[in-house]
Amino acid sequence: MAWCKGFLFRSDLTSAIVTRAGLHLHSSVRGLSNCGLSCSINALLQTFAATTEVEEMLSRWQPSEASDENNVPLELKRALEAMKDKRQSSPHLDFLNCLHEHNICRFTNHDADEVFHTILNLIQKQMSDQQIAAEIKNLYKIDVEECTECEKCGNVHRTPNLFLSFPLPLHEDGNTLMDCFRMFFKPQRLEGSEAFYCVKCEKKMPSTQRCKLVSLPSILCINLKRFRSTSSCTRKLNTKVSFPEMLNMAEMLPEEHSQVAERRYRLYGVVVHIGTSTMGHYTAYVYSTDSKWYYTDDSCTRQVSWEEVQSTYGGREWYSDMAYMLLYRRLSSEAAQGANP
Ligand SMILES: [Zn+2]
Repeated sequence: MAWCKGFLFRSDLTSAIVTRAGLHLHSSVRGLSNCGLSCSINALLQTFAATTEVEEMLSRWQPSEASDENNVPLELKRALEAMKDKRQSSPHLDFLNCLHEHNICRFTNHDADEVFHTILNLIQKQMSDQQIAAEIKNLYKIDVEECTECEKCGNVHRTPNLFLSFPLPLHEDGNTLMDCFRMFFKPQRLEGSEAFYCVKCEKKMPSTQRCKLVSLPSILCINLKRFRSTSSCTRKLNTKVSFPEMLNMAEMLPEEHSQVAERRYRLYGVVVHIGTSTMGHYTAYVYSTDSKWYYTDDSCTRQVSWEEVQSTYGGREWYSDMAYMLLYRRLSSEAAQGANP
């Protein structure tokens, strides 16, 4: 059986604390019931609700009545609006049913980063207002350029590419976020069967491939690549990755990218995975508009400290909370000046 509510004892404990303290009554973050293994979507919805920019963009969209059928952006718009009404017990049910029609099936565990990409891609595909759809994409869009240099003639082949979440590789033995960025940007040597076809030399040549950062978005989503696939299986890396609440990208990147990296960000969302690659549960931490951190585990929510958010660095037991996706928001220049990184 897929283990989604495997930590029932913990949820019950949380619920008891929350109820006794009455915190949920005052919380600006509401819980979302688990409707058939929907924890990954619930956790993502909490981060979408904390991304007020998306809600603002969706609120400007006036869809035509004809676009109702299985329209993911429309159901996301409705779910985010309904989440504000705390009397509604399952404000996300229609959204879950709509995703089900697009291969994010109910009663199945999903990878949160895959669901995130599916939602953003369907927004591009299904939104009748393509200008607002482009605004939503631009909010997350990381522009990069893949440069492959022939070792013999020096010819450089450039391919523009984009990410909606930064796919950061992890070392096995503990990382800072800076280590992960540096590993991502480390040049790769392509040789043998992987050699690159050089148009000048007119044959496959040993080459050096590096990724160049072109621009950073207002919302920087980072995917910590904890799931490592081989031909026979997928395993999860429980390794530690420490990350800051205030992120200065200029410090994170190798020198050659610093011209685009004069950017300061604040962490406002952490999607957490608990468990193994085959059985697991998702929860989320969100920094809400009231400038407080909240933990959300399906229907349970409670206010937490930054220290508790840091407990998701990993490097502990396999069943402990581990950050899987990080969401950072770019600070305005005034806010950045006041922030202590
Ligand atoms: Zn060449």
